Amino acid sequence: MNEFDLIKKIKQPSYRQSSLIKGIGDDAAVFHSSNNDIVTATDTFVDQIHFTSKTVNPWQLGYRALAANISDVAAMGADPLFYLVNIVIPKHITDSTVMDIFSGMERLASHYHLDLIGGDTVSGEQLMLSITIIGSVPPGKARYRSVALEGDVVFVTGTLGDARAGLQLLLQGTDQKIQRKNKLIQKHQQPEPRVLFAQALQPLKRLALNDISDGVANELHEIAVASNVAIEIQDELVPISEELQQFPKAQQDEWKYFGGEDFELVGTVSRSDFPYVKKTGQKQGVKVTEIGSVAYNRNNVGKVFITKNKERKQLEKHGYIHRS
Ligand code: ADP
Ligand code: MG
Repeated sequence: MNEFDLIKKIKQPSYRQSSLIKGIGDDAAVFHSSNNDIVTATDTFVDQIHFTSKTVNPWQLGYRALAANISDVAAMGADPLFYLVNIVIPKHITDSTVMDIFSGMERLASHYHLDLIGGDTVSGEQLMLSITIIGSVPPGKARYRSVALEGDVVFVTGTLGDARAGLQLLLQGTDQKIQRKNKLIQKHQQPEPRVLFAQALQPLKRLALNDISDGVANELHEIAVASNVAIEIQDELVPISEELQQFPKAQQDEWKYFGGEDFELVGTVSRSDFPYVKKTGQKQGVKVTEIGSVAYNRNNVGKVFITKNKERKQLEKHGYIHRS
């Protein structure tokens, strides 16, 4: 399939966003912008580095790559609208594989009413997929990491570590005696970005949000550093699924803090606004759990602490927990 035929095939028969003036088919796409603030993000996935054929099939690769981008927009509290796709296609990749990648993206795009408005297609050595997403949010309503304040509740959505457990099952084969493996595997292959939940929090005046792409330990540090605060987490409050609880305790602990790609949200909000966050979660079918609070101490800015069995330790950004 040449580039021309591919473009003909991936072009949507009709577009979903009324603000789109010109989609695929000219030198660039054109859309009309309202008074909203425009939010944009991009993410790149390289074969053998970010995925392998063992961990995702082509359809899931497309799905997951777009989900990661949508999750970034969700973590800004914004509405995803458009996306562009750059793809590097090696010679050994078949046409149907390429079409599967695009149809995985289209599944999510149709669900969230996104339009594919452009991209670039080139050949190369390694399969690579890079997506750029464009969204919008009412003026001043984008959600930043830098607004956490002392006394805030720290919360997360869903359960943590499941995608990492799913990845492990995929890498090590599925002969392990784990019940409901598919739930974990699905969390890795088809994560669900928290778009509607984050948007439903728009009435809140102040809310720090981050999506969990690298592990909650890392994302908590990002909030602590950006907001100039310390964060205190109660270990026993960190929500993990029944499925994850079947793994050895040490693995549960590692994955809930450092296992990435759950694409859940972590945030901080004033104690008086927290009930609204909980209620919004209930309405949306999203579990919201308080896991700790924001503190301020001149000496501990940018740090994250966990209390476990009444012992308080510093949580590192990546990989291990050491005593304070
Ligand atoms: P140009 O030479 O003007 O850059 P191209 O021939 O590369 O145009 O692309 C033609 C049209 O197809 C453009 O609208 C471009 O955005 C779109 N397009 C090309 N590759 C992709 C892709 N992988 N995904 C989505 N749109 C694409
Ligand atoms: Mg081009």
